[in-house]
Amino acid sequence: MDLTSFHRRSIDDREGFWAEQARLIHWHKPFGKVLDYSKPPFARWFVGGETNLCFNAIDRHLPTQADLPALIFVSTETGEERTYTFAQLHQEVMRMAAIMLEQGVGRGDRVLIYMPMIPEAAFAMYACARIGAIHSVVFGGFASHSLASRIDDASPKLIVSADGGSRAGKVVPYKPLLDEAIRLAAHKPAKVLLVDRKLAAMDLVSGRDLDYASQREKHRDAQVPVTWLESNEVSYTLYTSGTTGKPKGVQRDVGGYAVALAASMKYIFCGNPGETYFSSSDIGWVVGHSYIIYAPLIAGMATIVYEGTPLRPDAGILWKLVEQYKVTVMFSAPTAIRVLKKQDPAFLTKYDTSSLRALFLAGEPLDEPTARWISEGLGRPIIDNYWQTETGWPILTVAHGVEKTPTRFGSPGMPMYGYDVRLLHEGTGEEVGVNEKGVVAIAPPLPPGCMQTVWGDDERFVSTYFTSVPGKMVYSTFDWGIRDEDGYYFILGRTDDVINVAGHRLGTREIEESISSHSSVAECAVVGVADQLKGQVAMAFVVLKDPAQASTPETRMALEGEIMRTVDKQLGGVARPSRVHFVTLLPKTRSGKVVRRAIQALCERRDAGDLTTLEDPSALEQVRQAVGG
Ligand code: AMP
Repeated sequence: MDLTSFHRRSIDDREGFWAEQARLIHWHKPFGKVLDYSKPPFARWFVGGETNLCFNAIDRHLPTQADLPALIFVSTETGEERTYTFAQLHQEVMRMAAIMLEQGVGRGDRVLIYMPMIPEAAFAMYACARIGAIHSVVFGGFASHSLASRIDDASPKLIVSADGGSRAGKVVPYKPLLDEAIRLAAHKPAKVLLVDRKLAAMDLVSGRDLDYASQREKHRDAQVPVTWLESNEVSYTLYTSGTTGKPKGVQRDVGGYAVALAASMKYIFCGNPGETYFSSSDIGWVVGHSYIIYAPLIAGMATIVYEGTPLRPDAGILWKLVEQYKVTVMFSAPTAIRVLKKQDPAFLTKYDTSSLRALFLAGEPLDEPTARWISEGLGRPIIDNYWQTETGWPILTVAHGVEKTPTRFGSPGMPMYGYDVRLLHEGTGEEVGVNEKGVVAIAPPLPPGCMQTVWGDDERFVSTYFTSVPGKMVYSTFDWGIRDEDGYYFILGRTDDVINVAGHRLGTREIEESISSHSSVAECAVVGVADQLKGQVAMAFVVLKDPAQASTPETRMALEGEIMRTVDKQLGGVARPSRVHFVTLLPKTRSGKVVRRAIQALCERRDAGDLTTLEDPSALEQVRQAVGG
């Protein structure tokens, strides 16, 4: 079948289409209704059906592939490398589940996971899924303030963490950040389970902190049966940044997610049982949830959990792993490829990568030169795919399991089955024509696998995502897009104040709030500025309470460093602005809104556009001078 008809059918006969896909997973109890859309825009998939993500990822494969690899751990930071078969992984997960159960964690309870890329992080996620607890993974690169706000929102009974991680050869202690976050948070978890990797010193808080190794020993032979969950129960929440300072907990179900992932492995990623999938993402991001933890295993593949960078010990490491583990499907981010582009291209051909069916890239725009470079250098198909934390799996890409549609450099592809994608005019909400710029929107219901709601805040789900296009209840991606005459889409950047630094999505408001907490700062604005390597970087413009504090180059530099450290400490290095510029006034409209788009334009040496609504044009002149425009 061609992709267009396949897609058409998924929209015209939603229930028939998805009932068929639902056969890709195991159901303990069959569902009664494929879709309940009685309360738009809330979609409930596979109503009444009972299943379990952990069962579909692990137990289901035990009869046929117990002794095949399931989880391959490679750390180029510590030199560890070990493989868990499906049977071994099953046992480890049951041990972890038993520890959780003994601590009183049950169905619907939250478990926050703040971990480096180690197998125990995966065990904890599968264990939650097994017993019906809701996991909430927080990226290890986030610092105490970010962590505290997530602890408060998720109110976990248990936190699973470690002494530390390691990045580019440098130990990153996690425990002090966690202790500080718990101190800052209003909610206090009853217990904290800690994996001691012996990387960083760690003080255990008596009565609260548990040592994983001794707990594991205690539950060595644990047998923990699967808890069957109704399809619409919550599997996890994952926080993502938006335009407000408060991150949103993207909430996902069980059955719809399992079906969506299984279908994506069949039609998009084309992975087969017994093969190896390698995603170089992190469990802290949605790609890590979908395409490190769940989807590969659901498809019966082994997954690689990789702690390391693309450059150590050298720029050939990713391809070395492909050769060593005969990886057939690989997933990475454009930034990783741009990093490699600065290295000797001989690394691309040093190892045998012929096992690779395709390299999938996502998370940020894949620029044409980078796509071309990696495609030619590696000699393997490169597949761009566009999606969001909210959707859980690709919205736009090609589906070579359906049809071998050619890819086009610079375009992530076409709408995937289940997504009724529309390009809408920002002002009128009408559909735009071919080659016209519009907001990428999705007519609801959203397909299985997409977010159910914002954790604890249905109202926010509706008001954030479904009210931005006038007169229409459609889901907005907050991305600009354009479609060519052949139906290929191109993504042109965000419509809101969200920025994307090296594939990491950050809200400028969060960074502004952090900078404003510095005692010298009166006001600030943060914008995303185009960057050759990272796609975008954050740049800050700060008004000081006392401008004299930054009157010399030395004091300016010292203060800039201090402000950067404030962001590091509160949010983590990923959010640190590349520069902090001092101005005496921020460019605002007469109604007091900071004109971020104009600031951004000046930073990128573009025309700042219509400035007639500005309160004081000299403010923009200061920005221009600060960035040397
Ligand atoms: P996140 O939720 O962190 O995955 O970020 C999602 C956002 O990243 C999208 O709304 C886009 O702005 C951007 N994005 C993700 N994948 C792509 C892609 N393949 N091409 C262009 N932008 C992308």
